[in-house]
Amino acid sequence: MPVNVALIAASDEDAVGHFEDTVARPVNIARPDYEGLLSPELSTALRESHGGDLVPLWGTKRAKNGAGERHWRKLQSGDVAVFTGSGKVTAVATVAVPFENAELASRLWHADPGEPQWQFMYSLRDVRVFDDDYGFINEAAGYSPRNIIQGFTVLEDGDPHRGDIASRVLLALEENLGIVRSSSHDRSAEEVAGLRLSALEVERIVQARAEQGQLRKYLLSGADAVCDLCVRTFPSELLVAAHIKPRSECSDDEKRDFENVAMVACRFGCDELFERGFVSVDAGGTAVLSDDLPSGPARGYALAKIEGNSIARWQERPGTRPHFAWHIKNRFRG
Ligand SMILES: [Zn+2]
Repeated sequence: MPVNVALIAASDEDAVGHFEDTVARPVNIARPDYEGLLSPELSTALRESHGGDLVPLWGTKRAKNGAGERHWRKLQSGDVAVFTGSGKVTAVATVAVPFENAELASRLWHADPGEPQWQFMYSLRDVRVFDDDYGFINEAAGYSPRNIIQGFTVLEDGDPHRGDIASRVLLALEENLGIVRSSSHDRSAEEVAGLRLSALEVERIVQARAEQGQLRKYLLSGADAVCDLCVRTFPSELLVAAHIKPRSECSDDEKRDFENVAMVACRFGCDELFERGFVSVDAGGTAVLSDDLPSGPARGYALAKIEGNSIARWQERPGTRPHFAWHIKNRFRG
């Protein structure tokens, strides 16, 4: 698949500040106020692409004529992003994951409410800083030598007026800056398209969050409650309303069946151990522990606090049993 080239003017005060804040110093997406704004699919894609929680992020505003969004829609994983300012190339990076997220953009870059946000976002890999005149880009692109790179433009091969403009600019970048062109995309076009969240997808995420709130209200309305796995009482804020079978596997009816779809799990290990399949509940309603959990403090905890407990929710609410059965069959590490 051909590689596109994004030309990004980043010379005004805002842009220089943003580059320092969220590209030069990558964003920690594990921060709760950021992570809450990312769908699970997007979090996973970002972590996989960047090998962890630290992700350089950039975004483009919705321009009045729609140009920002139109160009951003051409971006694909593996494209090359060229940052410019004052007649120079200031940085070159590889586009990793494009996604739209106005809320995250507003939190990262603080545009005034009601103003356009830098919502057409993408993460960047292999960021390299330069300080080289960009005349060679104008020449390769067929622009006037005095052209000033402005706004945000994605160059594609097969341009009706300028032919294979992206390939020529890539070659010029290689010759002038020694950038090695990335030969293949990391993700298929379909995968990347799937990450550009549609309005429907956003609605689904909002729905999921609302449901989680209702579930929490149902299970954790009091000041404290009992963890279903370790059977200890904790203040409610240290407990989570955890789906027994993952929400993504539930039918709409199951999702709405608050009495049976979820349980209470503490944040001291039970939620995580269950979620990761190290503990489950067997066909008799007893908590079981996986041999896969290596010896150490985690296994010590599971042995002392969870294994062998008779799970009251399983006993008292037969409607939860099919969900526990799903968990032990599909999640439990045997
Ligand atoms: Zn617990």
